[in-house]
Amino acid sequence: MADATGLQPAPKAKIAISDQTSAPRVRFAPSPTGFLHVGGARTALFNYLFARHTGGSFLLRIEDTDRERSSAEMTEQIQSSMAWLGLEADEEPVHQADGLERHREAADALLNAGYAYRCYLTQEEIAELREEAKADGRVFRYRSLRLDPAGESGEAEVAREGDPDRPFALLYRVPDGVTEWEDAVHGHTRFANENLDDFIILRSDGTPVYQLAVVSDDIDMAITHVIRGDDHLSNTPRQVMIYRALGAEPPVFAHVPMILGPDGKRLSKRHGATSVEAYRDERGILSAAMVNFLALLGWSPGDDREVMDLSDLIEAFSLDRILKKSSVFDARKLEWLNGQHLSRLDAAVIVSEVQSDLSEVAPGAADDPERLLQVIGLVKTRARTLGEVARQAAPFFSGDFDYEETAVRKHWKDPISTAIRLAALAGVVSETEPFDATSLERELRALADTLEISAAKLIHPLRVALVGAAVSPGIFEVLELMGRERSVERIEHAREYLARIPADG
Ligand code: GLU
Repeated sequence: MADATGLQPAPKAKIAISDQTSAPRVRFAPSPTGFLHVGGARTALFNYLFARHTGGSFLLRIEDTDRERSSAEMTEQIQSSMAWLGLEADEEPVHQADGLERHREAADALLNAGYAYRCYLTQEEIAELREEAKADGRVFRYRSLRLDPAGESGEAEVAREGDPDRPFALLYRVPDGVTEWEDAVHGHTRFANENLDDFIILRSDGTPVYQLAVVSDDIDMAITHVIRGDDHLSNTPRQVMIYRALGAEPPVFAHVPMILGPDGKRLSKRHGATSVEAYRDERGILSAAMVNFLALLGWSPGDDREVMDLSDLIEAFSLDRILKKSSVFDARKLEWLNGQHLSRLDAAVIVSEVQSDLSEVAPGAADDPERLLQVIGLVKTRARTLGEVARQAAPFFSGDFDYEETAVRKHWKDPISTAIRLAALAGVVSETEPFDATSLERELRALADTLEISAAKLIHPLRVALVGAAVSPGIFEVLELMGRERSVERIEHAREYLARIPADG
């Protein structure tokens, strides 16, 4: 009986199939030929969230059959990035290259059951056939090599030309009809088989191709759901055929739409950091923010929540909320989310994350852990990246710092009147009792009233004097934490600086 795919009633190829359990089993299957980039990390995350939400298992398979392009270093980088994101696999990672024998057995099984046939032609001979076809205005198709299109094996055997030891590749014989499946993202999906040529499953050197290895491994690992980028969509009909030919039920497929750069082109190196870890190392991004950001690239919780931690995501995740259209990578949103996560994080956690940045910009900070905690507790509310946390914390520790040019231009426009206001502020800061945020605010506002100017006209220049920048947490909290002595010192230093401006031109 032919089924809906149009497959002919050939015997099922005989290979061992693991028992499928009812709990979902998913895998992330990167090729270790490059860093774990944003797209790969998102695929890993969706698999992880699905597994955790459903009580299933999340597995890692390193697809390292391409010996030349794969490296142990990339495998390590992928695993350390996953560890950083908190995406721990539930079983030891599987290395695809270890399954070579099983892949060959699957290929043999397909051959023996008539789903595949031998091709003795060399690559050069195939290239010649391609050239000939081209010259005749045709497209070369492997299926033209079939001696017996009806389905008996033995095709292309003639090419042995009396050499019984000649190596052969195995080609999958794509049957007539259509191949279809229910895609959890795209719904019912069908491919007309006439558009799919016969394809190699085992090369003449005995190595399996991706299409076969992936199916053999997914069957062996009892994978129930394949969640991956939709760049694989055109592979899926071939894989669905192999599953069915091997007598296995295909898994549920969920093809996740791709991620675009801000220019509308597919996200790539051109658009910035290549590895997800570079966002931590070079841009001060927290793992919680990265995970949150990746989750929202092509998925939505179905309400207007945006700031979510891993447990919120696990709870809300489902395949039917994966969006059908491509998503756009928005670096500003990542920074914004990072700021949101920073402000929620415990200061002690941030201290440990920010240590190396801090040792550069505020070497003394580590000597006073208690004060460091207080400072981080304050600056985390305004910083968007770990670098900003360190930069905003530095003025509380280090003696000297530069005034940001933009802040000076904006808030110290008139050096003379600014210096006069700062002198008055020095008086307030020296005398206010008790020296706390509430009293300081009261006294500063009183001074603004006396001078008949808005409080902002005092606050902005004071901020530049205290921290050298236009952005900081609330100025009164900054004053309180900086302390009377250091604050007055900073104001005096600013006045000296301002006094030199006209002289320097
Ligand atoms: N190794 C493939 C890749 O890196 C993934 C294969 C799959 O998920 O089926 O794109």
